Amino acid sequence: MHHYKNHSEKLKQIISGKLSLKENVKHFLKRISDHSHLNAFNEVFEQEAIQQAELIQQKIKDGKHGKLAGLVIAVKDVLQLKDHKTTCSSNILKNFTSIYTATAVQKLIDEDAIIIGKTNCDEFAMGSSNENSVFGPVRNPVDTERVPGGSSGGSAAAVAAELCDAALGTDTGGSIRQPAAFCGVIGLKPTYGRVSRFGLTAFASSFDSIGPFANNIHDAAMILETISGKDEKDSTSSDLPVPFYSTRLDQSDKLKIGIPKEYFGEGLASDIRTAIENAISKLKINGFEIIDISLPHTEYTIATYYLLTTAEASSNLARYDGTRFGYRSDEFDALSSMYKKSRSKGFGSEVKRRIMLGTYVLSAGYYDAYYRKAQKVRRLIKNDFDEAFKQVDVILTPTTPTTAFKIGEKSNDPLQMYLSDIYTTSANLAGIPGISIPIGKDSYNLPIGLQLLANQFEEAKLFQAANSILNEIHS
Ligand code: GLN
Repeated sequence: MHHYKNHSEKLKQIISGKLSLKENVKHFLKRISDHSHLNAFNEVFEQEAIQQAELIQQKIKDGKHGKLAGLVIAVKDVLQLKDHKTTCSSNILKNFTSIYTATAVQKLIDEDAIIIGKTNCDEFAMGSSNENSVFGPVRNPVDTERVPGGSSGGSAAAVAAELCDAALGTDTGGSIRQPAAFCGVIGLKPTYGRVSRFGLTAFASSFDSIGPFANNIHDAAMILETISGKDEKDSTSSDLPVPFYSTRLDQSDKLKIGIPKEYFGEGLASDIRTAIENAISKLKINGFEIIDISLPHTEYTIATYYLLTTAEASSNLARYDGTRFGYRSDEFDALSSMYKKSRSKGFGSEVKRRIMLGTYVLSAGYYDAYYRKAQKVRRLIKNDFDEAFKQVDVILTPTTPTTAFKIGEKSNDPLQMYLSDIYTTSANLAGIPGISIPIGKDSYNLPIGLQLLANQFEEAKLFQAANSILNEIHS
């Protein structure tokens, strides 16, 4: 099939009759079945997607279509879609059917996007490799012996292998940006509160955010402007107006770019360092002002992130007790043994580890030493960013310390796994937006991601900077 620069271009072909929406959907369905070895999807909606294509084709004929008409989207299986399963890749929700639709997903549907299926992910979005899934690991389309990253690994792999136009993922500590980097696609985590969390299965509620994966900046911007905005069903959603990100990509202001020295220390793979440094030199030549900055509390981000997110997770996941929904063990003799047996068999080992860690840091004797202390450090990390954004428009870093690792390489070493989020968790701690864009390959031909961070609600700057960097790299 012909390649399109972005969805607007594709839509023109559809409107002019040169491309049939139904053929387009069938093309993706064929690719999905040809790439079943990637294990990117938990469920594919063959019939429904074709029916939607027919309906939307008619709307186009009548001139009544939405702005994402025909955009084929895959949705991470932690987002609710009414009358479809939402498994969170967990045994405990394997047979759970959603009774409502997440706001972000509904907004895509309202603009006539076509939802093609639910993507595989780490169980309850906990992980960095997509190996913690009851449906088995997702494979990286660039090298199938390697992980696609996580937790939104299925969404990243599906976009990278062109099994759909774009996808939704979620990011609590890097789960959009890290897999985007590993698979060589664009992934954006918005400001906390920019996109309603209604219908997103809660992991760590003060960190969770929903965002797009795409193969071009324009589509990512279109999706973000569609899913953003105030929602009565999520009191933490912001009522700040939503800019038309996609129409402002070419604004030519030369942004000030900050380079935080703490993100270039030990542990950063040399090929990634070189690629990032080359990108910085190109920006300099093209008139961007590059400023060295410091984010002094960077060394505490991983510890702070794992103290706070496990605490929130232990509380959020208490609802899966076999009573109201999800898996219930039938081998119990009392209420307490029903809880125990259902949770023991329902959850996988990483989720159990987080629940135990979180329960511990919240326990009466340790609350002050761990949870309260971590809350204070979270504020200090946020203050670092507030200071930095007085000087610069965006901050530029590597997305990850290494490129995609082998399946099995880190699955027995949780600490090593946690360290793959060393550059991404800070954005969630501070509630700021971040984007990962592909800027090249390492010596194994594996994709390298560059991360840009901006102040709260300044996604427009991220898109602009990302757009100019990608243009410069490809020029
Ligand atoms: N990999 C991180 C974790 O395991 C981030 C997960 C996420 O962003 N959902 O918690």
